Amino acid sequence: VDVPVDVPVGAHAPGAVQPAEAALATVRGLTRRFGDRTVLDGLDLTISRGEFVALLGRSGSGKSTLLRALAGLDEEAEGGLEVDGSVAVAFQEPRLVPWKRVRDNLTLGLAAPDPTGRADAALAEVGLADRARAWPLTLSGGEAQRASLARALVRDPGLLLLDEPFSALDALTRITVHRLVLDLWAAHGPAVLLVTHDVDEALLLADRILVLDGGRVAHEWTVTAPRPRHRDHPDLLTLRAAL
Ligand code: ADP
Ligand code: MG
Repeated sequence: VDVPVDVPVGAHAPGAVQPAEAALATVRGLTRRFGDRTVLDGLDLTISRGEFVALLGRSGSGKSTLLRALAGLDEEAEGGLEVDGSVAVAFQEPRLVPWKRVRDNLTLGLAAPDPTGRADAALAEVGLADRARAWPLTLSGGEAQRASLARALVRDPGLLLLDEPFSALDALTRITVHRLVLDLWAAHGPAVLLVTHDVDEALLLADRILVLDGGRVAHEWTVTAPRPRHRDHPDLLTLRAAL
């Protein structure tokens, strides 16, 4: 099937084309069915290098399904999918292996020179240098989530997929981890695709916001600077109206 290439999704001007070298991830006509249920229905998406994208959508709209496909964890997804570089994922629950110490969770399956040195550097970056030999179950929620981010980071991903990584954190810890994610993003420059159900969080963190609905990217915004902080900001009203 000939899928139209470089057709931008959502609100881009018709005919606008992303320069090919900027595209890190290209998804064309991605379809995922579970039995007779079509969850992703010919979804198109382009993510540029270094871009911070937030993905909103109702519960069950297929956000995690899309992330699994992007991570290469779904062999049954149909359609075109290309990612130029490595992909790492952090989930809502940190999913650390409980019987391996924090550092060993980071080096697990890590094919790089000096894995221990890399792991310790990543732990230091997320403020967990002193927890390298701790057992995962002794970490607080915020610490476990930071360890999970370090585990993603140590793989030096071109694309970092975050599936509701903040939703289990209390409000104050969440602010700290927001800051951390922005710092890591600025320092390492991966493209980030963040799934969240929090509109304010999306507006705070992302350059571009997508809404998944009906198995496709149904709405798309580029967040205008300065960041919308006021609840009557037009971006916020448009976004809320679409949800
Ligand atoms: P979201 O992350 O947006 O909440 P999901 O991607 O987890 O949604 O799920 C989208 C839909 O696909 C849901 O209705 C879910 O029940 C269904 N689904 C996801 N994974 C499976 C699976 N392995 N088998 C059957 N149905 C699934
Ligand atoms: Mg989900």
